[in-house]
Amino acid sequence: AKDNGKNDFQIFMPFMLMKNLKKIEIEKNLKKAIEEDQFELYYQPVINLKDMEIHSVEALLRWNLPGKGMVSPLEFIPVAEESGLIVKIGEMVIEKAFSDIKNWERKGIDYINMAINLSVRQFKTKFFVDVVKKLIERYSVDPQKISFEITETGAVENFDVSLKILNFLCQMGIKFMIDDFGTGYSSLIYLRKLPIGGVKIDKSFISEIESSKESRAIVEGIVLLAHKIDLKVVAEGVETKKELEILKEIGCDFAQGYLFSKPLPKTEVEKLLIAKKIT
Ligand code: C2E
Ligand code: CA
Ligand code: CA
Ligand code: CA
Repeated sequence: AKDNGKNDFQIFMPFMLMKNLKKIEIEKNLKKAIEEDQFELYYQPVINLKDMEIHSVEALLRWNLPGKGMVSPLEFIPVAEESGLIVKIGEMVIEKAFSDIKNWERKGIDYINMAINLSVRQFKTKFFVDVVKKLIERYSVDPQKISFEITETGAVENFDVSLKILNFLCQMGIKFMIDDFGTGYSSLIYLRKLPIGGVKIDKSFISEIESSKESRAIVEGIVLLAHKIDLKVVAEGVETKKELEILKEIGCDFAQGYLFSKPLPKTEVEKLLIAKKIT
């Protein structure tokens, strides 16, 4: 047993060290990135399946790390959350998104809605509500055009805290959507106790609706139930025409994915927003 312990130690140690070093390095770089404003928002159009017009854009964070190119949020959001830097970064995301939607409005693109991703750690901080209020006023953004996306796990943990924050922001006119729906374990009925506007079905389900009867049945079931309790449904990660056809048949409300457009820098997405339709 003692020998085993020794071996475990030798195998375990370098791995842990590497992992921690990487984390510390990312964290150091993130602090610098905040100071030097190395972040940029890309926008992906969301299509209304009733008229096939663009309904909104989802803001997706990109980190332009000098010498390394664009870093995916999947790589740094977890570190940002753990270190607490997500609060500052999240505030900056909201500020950039508000500023961009206001700019589009000035250019005559006044129909567009904006979806912004929130991390749990971010929206459950003490000052979150005040920060949002302050930025809504500073940029004189119409709160009706804003929706915040939170994951189901984030929404249901500390349920009472979620309820308080969501209620407050909903009273201002902001909507909430449950992101990555289907990947957690909560039921729609339970989530409905929160003032939410709808759910976004995770792309892992959408990519299987063509090939798997079960996945199609699950998506169909979600849409049926959601509509019965007055929730909207967005499908994410739509990549093929066939997937789109199925989603239309099922009665899904909105869709986004590479079939329509990848996330784009603001100057590029603007052209699509002016056209209002993706051909
Ligand atoms: P998410 O909110 O589920 O966003 C959807 C992800 O799928 C995005 O990845 C998007 O670029 C990608 N995607 C869109 N269409 C397709 C498609 O047709 N096929 C495939 N395979 N992928 C598609 P991205 O931009 O790398 O973002 C990853 C995750 O990082 C997001 O997942 C979200 O959870 C998080 N994230 C992004 N921006 C922010 C942010 O500003 N704040 C926070 N807290 N999280 C963010
Ligand atoms: Ca999202
Ligand atoms: Ca997702
Ligand atoms: Ca697919």
